Amino acid sequence: MPFHAQILTLYPEMFPGPLGLSLAGRALAEGTWRCDPVQIRDFATDKHRSVDDTPAGGGAGMVLRCDVLAAAVDHALAAAPDSPVLAMTPRGRPLSQARVRTLAAGPGVTILCGRFEGFDERLFEGREIEEVAIGDYVLSGGEMGALVLLDACIRLLPGVMGAASSGDDESFESGLLEYPQYTRPNDWEGRMIPQVLRSGDHARIAAWRKSMALSDTRLRRPDLWERHEDARVGSPSGARRTKD
Ligand code: SAH
Repeated sequence: MPFHAQILTLYPEMFPGPLGLSLAGRALAEGTWRCDPVQIRDFATDKHRSVDDTPAGGGAGMVLRCDVLAAAVDHALAAAPDSPVLAMTPRGRPLSQARVRTLAAGPGVTILCGRFEGFDERLFEGREIEEVAIGDYVLSGGEMGALVLLDACIRLLPGVMGAASSGDDESFESGLLEYPQYTRPNDWEGRMIPQVLRSGDHARIAAWRKSMALSDTRLRRPDLWERHEDARVGSPSGARRTKD
């Protein structure tokens, strides 16, 4: 069964978009995943086919109607009852590699893309929907977020990237950033590839990479480092305390 992506959006033409190229595009052509954009406007009930209305309490912009959105979600659920429904919103839980990995191991995802000022909050009370943010910045719509989430999932699907994608070394997989990478030429403007990487000594290379991953994470991402240290100190086995 292909990984089934349903995207509820006002701009279905945006899909598969960049996911039609490169690795994801090949995987799509090979049937590893399925891309089904759904036009939210098809679920509008008035003659103007409106999907939004002015914010209760006043203020700028428009809010997506919960009745129209719920009808679109119900339609998507009928097509893929086992896929989790995610909504793109800056108010959601930040997307993590752990969550991506869990999603990629499942049957697929249904993603709700917001526009304007976002969704009527009652949608999240009336339907089981996971609110997801892709970062602490504001986009004009959820479509880019959906593309990001799907790209992160698709590269993990079996056969898409080969062995490389499942490496434990990759950034975030171990709660750390990946070590820095180098390739030829060995001498570029007088800057050499670190000697250890050319030593052929696999144990030394692994130790160097581990120490670089640790020090770069500590310097670049104090937030990740703190979590890593907490997990290490907090659990005798060194296992991570937090999942997803
Ligand atoms: N007024 C809202 C922002 C709306 S932006 C607020 O301040 O929270 C319009 C749409 O873009 C959102 O509904 C959402 O679907 C998408 N979006 C914007 N930023 C996002 C982010 N960081 N993560 C996920 N989706 C985002």
